[in-house]
Amino acid sequence: MEYRKLPKVDRLLDEPRLSGAKAALGARGLKVVVREVLSEQRAQIRSGGLAAAADEIVEQIQTRSQRRLAQRLEVVVNATGVLLHTNLGRAPLAAASVRRIAEVASGYSNLELDTATGERTRRAVHAEFQLAQLSGAESALIVNNNAAAVLLALSHLAAHREVIVSRGELVEIGGGFRIPDVLARSGAKLVEVGTTNRTRIEDFENAITENTACLLRVHPSNFHMTGFVERPVLTQLGELAERRGIPLIKDLGGGVLSDAQLAGIAEADRAREPTVEACLRAGCDAVCFSLDKLFGGPQGGAIVGSTELIAAFRKDPFARAVRVGKLTLAALEPILDAHVRNAFDDIPVLAMTRLTVDDLKTRGEALRERLASAGIAAQLMSTEAAIGGGTLAEARFPSIGLNIGGDAETVAQALRNGRPAILGRIVDDRCVLDLRTLIVPEGFDLAQHLIQTLAPVAAPA
Ligand SMILES: *Cc1c(COP(=O)(O)O)cnc(C)c1O
Repeated sequence: MEYRKLPKVDRLLDEPRLSGAKAALGARGLKVVVREVLSEQRAQIRSGGLAAAADEIVEQIQTRSQRRLAQRLEVVVNATGVLLHTNLGRAPLAAASVRRIAEVASGYSNLELDTATGERTRRAVHAEFQLAQLSGAESALIVNNNAAAVLLALSHLAAHREVIVSRGELVEIGGGFRIPDVLARSGAKLVEVGTTNRTRIEDFENAITENTACLLRVHPSNFHMTGFVERPVLTQLGELAERRGIPLIKDLGGGVLSDAQLAGIAEADRAREPTVEACLRAGCDAVCFSLDKLFGGPQGGAIVGSTELIAAFRKDPFARAVRVGKLTLAALEPILDAHVRNAFDDIPVLAMTRLTVDDLKTRGEALRERLASAGIAAQLMSTEAAIGGGTLAEARFPSIGLNIGGDAETVAQALRNGRPAILGRIVDDRCVLDLRTLIVPEGFDLAQHLIQTLAPVAAPA
């Protein structure tokens, strides 16, 4: 009999209190949510419970509709101290990129047209020209991301043939990118050499056969091995590849073009992240890297190398499947210009690496004072920020955090549930907002938002 008390789907769809949810989700979308809630009610009755009151059911539908709507892309405030957070969209875009997207995307553009001649051209011609100069390469190709770059290079060179890789480099980068799986998908046969911790140049040399398509070197972006470890230096591999007439391909990840780019990062960490140019000079025939890690641009990937190799990759049908769109190019060009000018402060993620602890203290102190004047306890503390995004796994920057009083989980949840959501991190049972990664949307009063959100949950000052 309890089942009969449940409201009918059609009645709920016409319920005036759900008209907002219906407008936002559409009638079909709302129906999905209504069915979910009613089926939970039926399950509850089946296990001996009672049907919820009609009002409560309407409320549950409202809450669930809101949760669905919150899954749209929304601005969040990154106070995690992780500069390149893959879950938070990696590198924030430069203001100039955002302006270019608006300009280029709101009308037509010369994406594949040479206006001087009226003839068709290749998209990305200028961006690829600049990227080649910046990395000291003969030629460059821009694709959807680094995973696509690696897959394109390997499937073009090595389908039905062998690729030699060190056992210490059969790594997982995250998000489903595992080197053995990428090789399998490219149709190449993986030839593993050496051991997890030690691989020598002879191991590569002895594995070369007439069926070898290329040697592959993978940069350990998201982990670091110490102890009894050894692998050939890149120049040794470069020499071997040249002597045997086999291409050497490097999956680099990072996207650092010059040492100056990393001026904000400690010397010891910088030494672990090779520049694209250094890889080419060491003898790599093609280097693949991300454009939204330390390069600081929109999601994208690049392959740079010899004219011959890049031209062959470009002609591969797979290149067409992973080409970039005009929005990406519009965003990328101002970032390339900034690299050309060495104007690293114009690239937000690099600007963040350059903020001094004193800059952060000043910012933190202003926030702390406003919270204190509203009766909310918070203290500045030293923290460590990280690069993240599978880049320079060990690198840590000194940073400053705002340590908020009160139960860490309760505070963190209240901040996540606000709009915009604020994501902090939990340190020693406290919710801490790291100031290094804090970008505040224009016109948004962060202190006021914190005061309102925290008043019910934070410890009083
Ligand atoms: C990050 C990374 C990738 C994946 O790059 P995406 O741009 O995320 O596709 C592949 N290889 C290495 C070594 C990386 O660091």
